[in-house]
Amino acid sequence: MKKIGEIGWVEKDIPSIGPQDALLKPLAIAPCTSDVHTVWEGAIGERHDLILGHEAVGEVVEVGNLVKNIKVGDRVLVPAITPDWGSDAAQRGFSSQTGAPLGGWKYSNYKDGSMAEYFTCNEADFNLAILPENISPADGVMLVDMWSTGFMGAENANIPLGGSVAVLGIGAVGLSAILGAKLQGAGRIFAVGTRPVSVEVAKEYGATDIISYKDGDTGDQIKEATDGEGVDAVIVAGGGSDILIDAVKSARAGSVVSNINYFGEGENIPIPRTPWGFGMADIDIHTGLCPGGRTRMEQLANIVTYGRGDPSKLITHRFDALEDLEEALLLMKDKPRNLIKPVVIL
Ligand code: NDP
Ligand code: ZN
Repeated sequence: MKKIGEIGWVEKDIPSIGPQDALLKPLAIAPCTSDVHTVWEGAIGERHDLILGHEAVGEVVEVGNLVKNIKVGDRVLVPAITPDWGSDAAQRGFSSQTGAPLGGWKYSNYKDGSMAEYFTCNEADFNLAILPENISPADGVMLVDMWSTGFMGAENANIPLGGSVAVLGIGAVGLSAILGAKLQGAGRIFAVGTRPVSVEVAKEYGATDIISYKDGDTGDQIKEATDGEGVDAVIVAGGGSDILIDAVKSARAGSVVSNINYFGEGENIPIPRTPWGFGMADIDIHTGLCPGGRTRMEQLANIVTYGRGDPSKLITHRFDALEDLEEALLLMKDKPRNLIKPVVIL
């Protein structure tokens, strides 16, 4: 990111590391919709010559002198969110918010990201997880942000076993939420979106009903399909600044509206007063930033290793050179109808 609205290549020195850090070179990198928000919407404010990228699998090339478990040559999952594990927020159980709101999100925000020949990871022992041999770097890179965020959406939604869930938005994040909801024991899963490639994966990941937000009001469609009741949980993974209107209208008493979507505009975000029971409908709104850290990555890898989910289904475009990152990022910006997620494999 040269500045808001402009991308290009920049030469920098190989970064130096602190005693708890690791220096890595990427083996697989994926651009994220958040990179698009960062560059073209100025989501985190102005940045000059910031290296983008927070989704990577890497190989360790150097470690600080206090690092005990991670070694040079290890192939590792690098979480998008790399918390300071000793911080107050982490100790209170909110590791993604260390130091400041969203403060665990360091790559391509507070420091240079992974779209580079070399990048660093703080607190390597606590943030990096060994990539199991059965998982390819390309598949692994789908875990570090997409699965972790989508699964969190399902974890936060308090889904009853056999209950019904609506997932609004079926890009890579929403699709991961569908798989998460299935793994959490949901009975009926509504997927809301239109891209045919996404609809296909939604079904493979566990969606039982497909709804197009282009065919009418999403809340009305979900109410109609549930005899006027609404669903037990709603996960918001797409849509504009008024998407909570659809979410609350789709929910019934006792629901959690679990938001993992980014809201890019407007000072305030509307919540529909009457469907929300004038503030008394027992419909909670829960928010969260992607969980990071070693243990989280190991748990996500277990889902692959033990055959409970296939991350490769999210990958629609594959590239094989660092220079291709530009094209991959522009794909993420333009979102052609045949795209879920591009990955650059090095
Ligand atoms: P995509 O753009 O790939 O997917 C968005 C989805 O939303 C598409 O399926 C799109 O439908 C759908 N959509 C658009 N409008 C509506 C609507 N009115 N109602 C319902 N669905 C709608 O995005 P990603 O999956 O990559 O990312 C989703 C969001 O998650 C982004 O805002 C991103 O910034 C955020 N994010 C949040 C993280 C976190 O930690 N909380 C981490 C990473 C990302 P269609 O099929 O028609 O295109
Ligand atoms: Zn991301």
